[in-house]
Amino acid sequence: MDDPRASGQEHLSRTVGLCAHCAHVQVIVSDKGSRFYQCRLSFIDARFPRYPPLPVIECAGYTPGFGQS
Ligand code: SF4
Repeated sequence: MDDPRASGQEHLSRTVGLCAHCAHVQVIVSDKGSRFYQCRLSFIDARFPRYPPLPVIECAGYTPGFGQS
């Protein structure tokens, strides 16, 4: 259950995990406003799923930064 007191960043960290602030993520927003977190490392390394199950708690490819949205 969502805690309304949590900040947006806390909420993202809890629901999305590492992908929320990884340099390899591509955020895709559907016509209906749904957000999908695509791992761009998946294009060059089969160890990484294109759409990882969220939240991602541990990831060998995690690189702190900001992906493309
Ligand atoms: S490398 Fe890991 S943390 Fe980064 S976008 Fe891909 S799955 Fe998410």
